[in-house]
Amino acid sequence: MTDYLKKELIEKLCTIISSSRKILIVTHTNPDGDAMGSVTAMMHFLLSKNKESLITIPNNYPEYLSFLDPDKSIVIYKNDNATVDEYLLDCDLIIALDFNQLKRVDELEKGIRESKAKKILIDHHPSPEDAPFDLVISTTEISSTCELLYWLLISIENWINSGQPANLTSATADSLYVGLMTDTNNFSNSVLSSTFRMASGLLSLGVDKEKLQHYVFGGFTESRMRLLGYLLQKKMVILWEYGAGYIILTKEEQREFEFNEGDSEGFVNMPLNIRGVTISALFTESEESIRVSLRSIDDFSVNRLARRFFNGGGHERAAGGKLFISIDKVPEYFKMSLKKSIKL
Ligand code: 5GP
Ligand code: MN
Repeated sequence: MTDYLKKELIEKLCTIISSSRKILIVTHTNPDGDAMGSVTAMMHFLLSKNKESLITIPNNYPEYLSFLDPDKSIVIYKNDNATVDEYLLDCDLIIALDFNQLKRVDELEKGIRESKAKKILIDHHPSPEDAPFDLVISTTEISSTCELLYWLLISIENWINSGQPANLTSATADSLYVGLMTDTNNFSNSVLSSTFRMASGLLSLGVDKEKLQHYVFGGFTESRMRLLGYLLQKKMVILWEYGAGYIILTKEEQREFEFNEGDSEGFVNMPLNIRGVTISALFTESEESIRVSLRSIDDFSVNRLARRFFNGGGHERAAGGKLFISIDKVPEYFKMSLKKSIKL
């Protein structure tokens, strides 16, 4: 049995959840499918156990994931901190999902750190910050937080129902499937045999995979599709000496293509489809900084690259961060970071 499914951990998780009345669920800034899938799955699961919960996220989620929040019940801390600050005063449990360091929740960090509530972290990034949490369930040997959560929820169900088949609600199953799809880039990376077993289990629970496929990977607006074409044609640069490709998306281009949060989801993977390109980066200019997305398809650690040069972190093959330089300095800076990281 894998470490994260050890009986003591499951029992501790069950005990903390069942002794809690009011639960705050939180994930990281700029939430992706795994972040949104795991928080909404947790909320649906708690609802099925008649537990009150509230989801909060530091900033807004991308439009393409809005189907996971049909009642608009998720509280965006940037827009409504009062509701969350009040909830923090008397909630008795905080469940943090899909991040390893509390600084990843930006303005929410202080309130969470200072809260007297019990705290649980469920995550799949390296080096989780243990200190603020009463229970940390973390492994990098898994596709996604949603997969980890799936196996935990199944174990809880088995434990409660003493061996009866687990019966997650369809809303929980849909949410978990979304994280699985997005963190594996549609079943193309980080897929283990447990990942396919999970997918199979979710399909048996009635997940409509075509519908979710369309929500998550299809359904482009015309301007989003044209932006992708433009970036590949005009902006993608290949640095053959490093086997790396990168794309820079400026604020002006975002205006021109009516860019919305989430429109560039998946674009960072495009250069990796070119034979000989194994490292890829997307730089997105914003008001205060440049958002950096990094990917690799070999042993090159973009987590290390992100930590050393881009004020960030992540996984070995998918990481991100921020840059505080002018956009025209990015090509030289990226080349320098590769030069210092790769022995030619
Ligand atoms: P993405 O490129 O999709 O925004 O992020 C890829 C991965 O990098 C995510 O799993 C996320 O955990 C990590 N990541 C993205 N941005 C940051 C950041 O600013 N700091 C840290 N520590 N990790 C990040
Ligand atoms: Mn994740």
